[in-house]
Amino acid sequence: MERHDPVRVVIIGGGTAGWMTAAALARLLGHACTVHLIESEQIGIVGVGEATLPQMRAFNARLGIAEADFMAWTRGTFKLGIEFRDWGKIGDSYIHPFGTFGRGRGEVDFHHYWARLRALGVPVRPLEDYSFACAMARANRFAIPASDPAAIASTFGYAYHFDATLFAPYLRALAESAGVRRTEGEVVAVARDGASGDIAQLTLRSGETVAGDLFVDCSGFRSLLLGEALGEPWQDWSHWLPADRAVAMPCRSQGELTPYTSAIAMPAGWRWRIPLQHRTGNGYVYASAFLPDDRAADALQAAIEGAPIAPPRPLRFRAGRRQRSWVNNCVAIGLASGFLEPLESTSIHLVQAAISQLVELFPARRVSPIERDEFNRLVDYEYDRIRDFLILHYHATTRRDSPFWDYVRTMPIPDSLAEKIDLFRRRGRVVKHREGVFMDASWIAVYVGQGIVPQGHDPRADAVDAADLAASLHRLHDEIRTTVAAAPLHAAHIRATCAMPDAA
Ligand SMILES: Cc1cc2nc3c(=O)[nH]c(=O)nc-3n(C[C@H](O)[C@H](O)[C@H](O)COP(=O)(O)OP(=O)(O)OC[C@H]3O[C@@H](n4cnc5c(N)ncnc54)[C@H](O)[C@@H]3O)c2cc1C
Repeated sequence: MERHDPVRVVIIGGGTAGWMTAAALARLLGHACTVHLIESEQIGIVGVGEATLPQMRAFNARLGIAEADFMAWTRGTFKLGIEFRDWGKIGDSYIHPFGTFGRGRGEVDFHHYWARLRALGVPVRPLEDYSFACAMARANRFAIPASDPAAIASTFGYAYHFDATLFAPYLRALAESAGVRRTEGEVVAVARDGASGDIAQLTLRSGETVAGDLFVDCSGFRSLLLGEALGEPWQDWSHWLPADRAVAMPCRSQGELTPYTSAIAMPAGWRWRIPLQHRTGNGYVYASAFLPDDRAADALQAAIEGAPIAPPRPLRFRAGRRQRSWVNNCVAIGLASGFLEPLESTSIHLVQAAISQLVELFPARRVSPIERDEFNRLVDYEYDRIRDFLILHYHATTRRDSPFWDYVRTMPIPDSLAEKIDLFRRRGRVVKHREGVFMDASWIAVYVGQGIVPQGHDPRADAVDAADLAASLHRLHDEIRTTVAAAPLHAAHIRATCAMPDAA
């Protein structure tokens, strides 16, 4: 049997992206590679990024991470979706759930039946009331999904909130136990091979040099290898996603522990609220063209519910990505490859998706263009779809109360998104994708939640008698209500299963 020498992987960066990559490569590729991670404690990590998507559960499971242990260590809480407040218009509130609406009947999605009854003038409840995940979120309850696919309590998934400053150290322990070597130090020079242009070695401030076959750039916004050393051009999306700043300020928790992230629209952007076991994370994401920095911090402080436990922390970013994430023998993962604002908690998902593709397409010691191009195609696809989904939230508004909302409401949008909106508005159709992060229910939640209600429906939904249909929706709502009432409160579930060590 043919045996290959292990590929020498060098990772720059010890934030969430760097340690996720290190842990995954070491655990999943075994002897196919050696992994050496370089990080600079003096530079530090971005230290935000506390809300995730359900796909993270599968990723953690692949790495052998036990949920209860991970949750306790990172002060984690469960997340059933995102509550959007004041987006379509001031006073609105809807949830983008990690779950379906109703139960499908054969090939036709539930919302077509709902749209049909509405069109007939039959009284129906808001779409959200037919989602088990939404109902559980609104009641501040949480339970693990039922295993019986016929049960209404099986129609959802869940994700995590966690303390970003605790996640990287947690992964570091896992990665080091799987054989990852770590060097503390700042990379100050990058040497490239004259003929191929590949990166050959890195020099640290101490003078130490580190050679490798494959270099993974997890250096954060600086993009030290892909952006600075290889000069890969930046694709700017700020005309569609104008937010370019955030100010973060954690506070003491108040009230019941909610099992969802909140995204509350503000005059020049929106603010996040992320409940953790020991505190609540808050931040105002805004466009500096519409709001001076000092006013953003004041606005956040005035809006948060508990006493601040740290001073306001400013962050700067740009919406967009490097044209290619993998160039020569350098793959950028995380903020080094691009950034889309955290409205739908997608950055860590993008890290995880890139790692999964890298594992699937892992090269030999010399990189082949075929693997590299396929990786770039898959990364593009993920980024473009998330970009359109984010733009939808801003564009589908009727708000006219500030220059920021006027801008996003009237800005030209990508053709790919205009087509998607049109398809839904006409007959409730959602553009189908075989894979990717946001599937039908996510798009439906945001369309309907922001006032894009289908004018027609799938003709196959006419096959059911309207009175029978109305009765079945009524029964469904009752079933959701009684099942949710039997679930424990979110805080009680955490106390029973994964409380942080000092609270147990
Ligand atoms: C305001 C905001 C809110 C966010 N919220 C979310 C969210 O809710 N959900 C989500 O999924 N994502 C969110 N993100 C994104 C998320 O924080 C990042 O995707 C994630 O933390 C990964 O960051 P990173 O590891 O790429 O970069 P960083 O954490 O910045 O790590 C970079 C690493 O590179 C090292 N480094 C840099 N230069 C050198 C050098 N010269 N030598 C050696 N080491 C070097 C640093 O020391 C550090 O270890 C948010 C981001 C922002 C800005």
